[in-house]
Amino acid sequence: MGDETKVAGVGPCVRCGAPAVALVRSTGDHLCAAHFVASVERRVQETIERTGMIRDGDCIAVGLSGGKDSSVLLYLLSHLLRDRPAVRLVAITIDEGIAGYREETMKAARSLAADLGVEQIVVSFEDAFGSSLDAFLRKPADPHPCTLCGVLRRRALQTAARRAGATKLATGHSLDDEAEAALMNVLNGDLKRIVRTGIPGDAFVPRIKPLGEVPEKEVTLYAVVQGLFLPLPECPYAGRALRSEARGILSSLEYRHPGTTVQFMEGYTTLREEVARCLEEKGDLEEGGFGRCEECGEPATGRRCQACALLASLAGE
Ligand SMILES: [Zn+2]
Ligand SMILES: [Zn+2]
Repeated sequence: MGDETKVAGVGPCVRCGAPAVALVRSTGDHLCAAHFVASVERRVQETIERTGMIRDGDCIAVGLSGGKDSSVLLYLLSHLLRDRPAVRLVAITIDEGIAGYREETMKAARSLAADLGVEQIVVSFEDAFGSSLDAFLRKPADPHPCTLCGVLRRRALQTAARRAGATKLATGHSLDDEAEAALMNVLNGDLKRIVRTGIPGDAFVPRIKPLGEVPEKEVTLYAVVQGLFLPLPECPYAGRALRSEARGILSSLEYRHPGTTVQFMEGYTTLREEVARCLEEKGDLEEGGFGRCEECGEPATGRRCQACALLASLAGE
């Protein structure tokens, strides 16, 4: 009881008494726009400092799709790092080639990078793989659009980040994205995958997720308050079966029992460390154990990397 009646926008800001626009569920505080912005920025700053994910001398490649989460990420990083000239930012935008959807978000990505004065590198699926996502999906072999898109986009981002001389690759994943992926790993029962997400593997440009402790709703509200929110179209290929159900379960739990997501992620992190220790004792841990893909030389866990395997299946091999 009680939690359900807490509605954002009701009651004054606990810091200054101005009308509140947000309820920060992790603390139960109602905050006005200015104090909400400060609260998100302080928490992201704390995440960055506590984890040491960004250090002087780093070149941070930010995956910028032009959607809400990655726009908030680039905006926040350029803001939080403005007094750190020893850290360089570069935005990388992958144009998957999705007609009627990507044009608008590409435009949003370009204008944000330009406004913030951040160098932007644009790579299309066409350039990287010889074909747009739309064209790939017209072929008879049909991997799930989101699987194909995700694997190829991650590959294109990694390659572009490495070419740009980046030392880290930052993505806009929120707490909810992380929890959703964690729950998927648990539901799929793949212990090695649970552990692998925790191993950076030095063959890759290490990934960082500065928004990983901020709930999705707060990322959205931050975008609205900072004027970064654009009513952009939805991806025509969206809709992700088990994954979207996992998200639904988490958000209804969070609604009825605030703090569940944070608790779950704390437990998951402990579980991951324990699983890694057990596998190591059994001598069964592929510690950063990536070999090289026989075809493209990129890191792979088998003979072929996931991207080459998918491209081969599309070519009818
Ligand atoms: Zn206030
Ligand atoms: Zn490969």
